[in-house]
Amino acid sequence: MADYVKMWEDLGMDLETHDLLCQVLPTAVGDVFMTQENRPKAMDFWDLVISEVHGIRPAELIEEQKKGRKVFGTFCVFVPDEVIVAANGIVTGLCGGSQFWVPGGEAVLPKNTCPLIKASVGARLGRTCPFFRIADVYVGETTCDGKKKAYEILGQDVPMLIMDVPQMKRPKDILKWKDEIAEFAEKVEEITGNRITVENLKEAIRIINEKRKALKRVYEARKSECLPISGRDSLLMTQISFFDDPERCAQMCNRLADELEERIRDGVSVVPAGTKRILLTGTPLAVPNWKLHNIIETSGAAVVCEEMCTGTRYFENLVDDSGETLEELFMALSERYMKNNCACFTPNPGRIEDIIRLAREYKADGVIDCSLKFCGLYDIEKKSVAEALKAEGIPVLSLETDYEDSDAGQLRTRIEAFVEMLNER
Ligand code: SF4
Ligand code: SF4
Repeated sequence: MADYVKMWEDLGMDLETHDLLCQVLPTAVGDVFMTQENRPKAMDFWDLVISEVHGIRPAELIEEQKKGRKVFGTFCVFVPDEVIVAANGIVTGLCGGSQFWVPGGEAVLPKNTCPLIKASVGARLGRTCPFFRIADVYVGETTCDGKKKAYEILGQDVPMLIMDVPQMKRPKDILKWKDEIAEFAEKVEEITGNRITVENLKEAIRIINEKRKALKRVYEARKSECLPISGRDSLLMTQISFFDDPERCAQMCNRLADELEERIRDGVSVVPAGTKRILLTGTPLAVPNWKLHNIIETSGAAVVCEEMCTGTRYFENLVDDSGETLEELFMALSERYMKNNCACFTPNPGRIEDIIRLAREYKADGVIDCSLKFCGLYDIEKKSVAEALKAEGIPVLSLETDYEDSDAGQLRTRIEAFVEMLNER
């Protein structure tokens, strides 16, 4: 591994505590990913990135900052990357997925806050994540109450922009989101010092659409009865796509998709025929949260699709780039982003329709609906999800978890029983 200590020091990181994090990550990567057999060769790219997750990409971001580019840290798939890319800015995901950062978050937030929020705040305040140090500005959004209030705390430590996401999907809400995107574009122009034009916004839309198409190609391959990639590997690809340069991300995903399509032609599967196929839905799985996938895939089943923000919601629906004015392009962005069926909307029938549609498309034998502890939005929606799936004859298991390992045994017992039930059907 290259020596990144000087870089971390310059970023003002707490090196001693960060060392502890660096010690646990390789074991987790080894246990979850390297124990798998017959992985696609193209996973070598993501294996390298995850093995030096606090080194390779942070070093690239710092090099770009030296050239005058600004880095925007985001926490939600509602923030339109296209606007930032159009102004020659760089987007990096910031959601925290490790229990390591939770105590730092609990120092300033109530314990009954969802672990994703606690970890994200802890990663910043504890100075143990280079991405949280590098970002010039954070972009928050008004999706859930916990995030809204956590952004006030983060805002005391780092420049923060907040986007006001509508909570309903009426035509006036789509117009409102268009106006919010236009206002955001002005702020991005101020921060980057670059004008957003029809030309550079169209080009940014093209770049992000290409990334979406490439991610979709990998997901398309997962629809095959001959499953060419595990859920764990696919999740790693998706998680890292939030941090990576979008053009390289598209290139690497297309390279992986080529190999997966070849595997399908050659009949190469990562699981024995008849392995039960699971669609996972619920709260996002921020890196390095691989717990559920790991338990499911070591309990005799395979995850074939994720209906979540670290899944289909990240790439489904392209932005129409045919507009000839900024106003038209902002509207096209609003229309695409407002198709995201996050549980923050009321009512939210689109998510249930998506789950049923995806369960069929990916030939899922069952659905696992899992929310993070203290996420009221997704927890409350579980009832409607379960009722709708039962009505469709699709078996469903509703779960709750957090970042601690203490519930792993209990989760395994419930998941094994679910898989056994699917096997007996
Ligand atoms: S689940 Fe909702 S709040 Fe969370 S990243 Fe997705 S859209 Fe944003
Ligand atoms: S998991 Fe739920 S509570 Fe946590 S940030 Fe997402 S929407 Fe908010």
